[in-house]
Amino acid sequence: MKVSEILKKNEVTISCEIFPPKQGAQLQNYKAIAAEIAKLKPAYISCTYGATGGTSDYTVEIADAINSYGVPAIAHLTCVSSTREKVHTVIHELKERGIENILALRGDIPTNTDFPLPDQYHHAIELIREIKEAGDFCIGGACYPEGHPEAANMNEDLDHLKEKVDAGCEYLTTQMFFDNNIYYRFLYKALAKGIDVPVTAGIMPVTNAAQVKRTISLTGNLVPAKFLSIVDRFGDNPAAMKQAGIAYATEQIIDLIANGVNHIHIYSMNKPDVAAAIMNNLSQIYVREQA
Ligand code: FAD
Repeated sequence: MKVSEILKKNEVTISCEIFPPKQGAQLQNYKAIAAEIAKLKPAYISCTYGATGGTSDYTVEIADAINSYGVPAIAHLTCVSSTREKVHTVIHELKERGIENILALRGDIPTNTDFPLPDQYHHAIELIREIKEAGDFCIGGACYPEGHPEAANMNEDLDHLKEKVDAGCEYLTTQMFFDNNIYYRFLYKALAKGIDVPVTAGIMPVTNAAQVKRTISLTGNLVPAKFLSIVDRFGDNPAAMKQAGIAYATEQIIDLIANGVNHIHIYSMNKPDVAAAIMNNLSQIYVREQA
């Protein structure tokens, strides 16, 4: 099923994200993780794509498995560090396997190659246009409530985002954020630019102290004092930190839904227990069809 159809309904949706294995030997374990998360009945599950394209085959495999568990799958696809031939091969494979949803991404610019290579992609919009030509896919894109780190300013970033939507992105998923006001302000600015597709709110349950530092250094995210106090108090106690991280993510989601946001995407990071704890906390808010 196409994610655009799911997001069209006027109801709360909670989706999850997982990542593929680096080696084929781990494939069965990762499929088992996907199956555990599928049992929670999220609206859909997306599977990331290795930045260098190295895990691309496994993204397709995992997305195929997710579909087979009865949950719609999104396959992420990045382009900047791949040849056009490689990207076209993956798109063809997704089509062959009946995977209807692609999150079209540029990917981070590789530091270990001479970028740009001849014939290389430069921005996600080029990939979006090619996917649109290649078949009847539902295409999503990434957006950044705090601005993409490379963008000169938010205004310019939003202009490029509008171009992606005009090129065929039917929905957007945000980079994680830890302060809902950042997301609300972003929505107003996006609407003012005429961006009117669903903007799924990306929530990362941070369940260990090292993850907080990694997240801040990767994304440049603003982390509210309230969250930093949790890390200060519980960072050395893994069980307490996990519980507090789940509670913080739950509180963020409840505030979003209470303020009329329907679509939440949990960066569940291959942790079915964390996804399950959040889903259980929301059991009267996100009522799913029983198996
Ligand atoms: P783009 O939309 O191309 O934007 C990148 C930068 O270029 C921005 O600053 C933008 O303003 C600017 N820009 C865009 N178009 C133009 C243009 N036409 N002219 C000039 N400037 C332009 N990475 C992975 O490797 N694998 C994943 O699976 C993955 N999944 C992700 C999922 C989500 C929801 C998000 C938010 C990010 C994900 N990423 C993933 C990270 C992503 O690849 C990086 O953030 C990357 O740096 C930007 O990708 P993009 O698709 O947003 O790029």
